[in-house]
Amino acid sequence: MIKTFKVMLCPNNKQGTKLFACAGAARFVYNWTLWYQQTNYELGYSFTGDAEIRRLLTALKKENPRFQWLNQYSNNIAKQAVKDACEAYHRFFKGLAKYPKFKKKRRSKPGFYADPVKIRFTETHVKLEKLTDSRKSNRQTLNWVKLAEPGRVSAGAKYVNPRVTFDGLNWWISVGVECEGTAEQPHNPGIGIDLGIKNLAVCSDGAVYGNINKTANVRKIKKQKCRLQRGVSRKYLKNKKRESYCKTRSIIKSEQKLLKINRRLTNIRHNHLHQVTSEIVSRKPRFVVLEDLNVGGMMKNSHLSQAVQEQGFYEFYRQMQYKCGWGNIRFITADRFFQSSRMCSCCGHVKKDLKLSERTYICPVCGNSIDRDFQASINLMRYGMTN
Ligand SMILES: [Zn+2]
Repeated sequence: MIKTFKVMLCPNNKQGTKLFACAGAARFVYNWTLWYQQTNYELGYSFTGDAEIRRLLTALKKENPRFQWLNQYSNNIAKQAVKDACEAYHRFFKGLAKYPKFKKKRRSKPGFYADPVKIRFTETHVKLEKLTDSRKSNRQTLNWVKLAEPGRVSAGAKYVNPRVTFDGLNWWISVGVECEGTAEQPHNPGIGIDLGIKNLAVCSDGAVYGNINKTANVRKIKKQKCRLQRGVSRKYLKNKKRESYCKTRSIIKSEQKLLKINRRLTNIRHNHLHQVTSEIVSRKPRFVVLEDLNVGGMMKNSHLSQAVQEQGFYEFYRQMQYKCGWGNIRFITADRFFQSSRMCSCCGHVKKDLKLSERTYICPVCGNSIDRDFQASINLMRYGMTN
């Protein structure tokens, strides 16, 4: 089983410069591969595989002075950039993606690949390849970049596909680590989960997890964000020259602030989702049932669309799915046409005209009165028992 970790890096100034240079090398090789394939096609030759292009690049690095600067960087960066470019073409041939584009310096996300065999992790640092040219041992420390979270990635494990990326503020490393899965089979009763706006999740065993976006802290941050956004757009209008907008230093500053505030909001929301999903999985139910997500349908309701977006149902779904996989829990999605909230949990009567405002379900047949979301979760749990 492979678990993927993403940890922030704390490079010093020299390392930061080197990381950007590595990302530049990756971008150069990616663009060169695209150019090579395009000229190849225009001359009437067939598509060249990545192995052959890599061989060609190695020869160029030796002979052509225009390519020799690439020797400063780890050859794995170039190798993977060629592979990525060829993969982009393959995805295009299969109809999975658009025609691959050149990566622009200002438009693309800087990042590169590290060698999974040569990469080393300690409790506090990660060793990347060739951040320094010197072989002296006191200079070799430049290869060791500090990790923001010590001990998150286990040392000496088998690593898969390590990638270093920059997100506009910080450098990150994401790496897959081979872990041993548990053979333990969970025995506790299954749980049905109803997702909603009022509460994030209502479980059939009575647990209720609130909506984080309704807390005072998040509201305060959202207010700050709105004010900043207004400020930025006002500055853009103020500095507009005829038809073109120009970016002043103060706009760049405000946009950085905005980026940080957005990051903060996302982090709070994701943290909440992680806590909820982990807690549900830690109770070790035999199975977990979720509704088929019809987020598109919910987004059409303009009153709800923002709230739905902020809740991150898709992310909840994704986290639940992989965390269930770790604990050998069966993950079930109810059919899209399963009447989870309209059906009475006592007699099975389906109330066709249930309004969204009816928070308490009162059954016209058997007189059963129950909280709407809780009933939905019970129905989902029963769905899981029969399917
Ligand atoms: Zn009933």
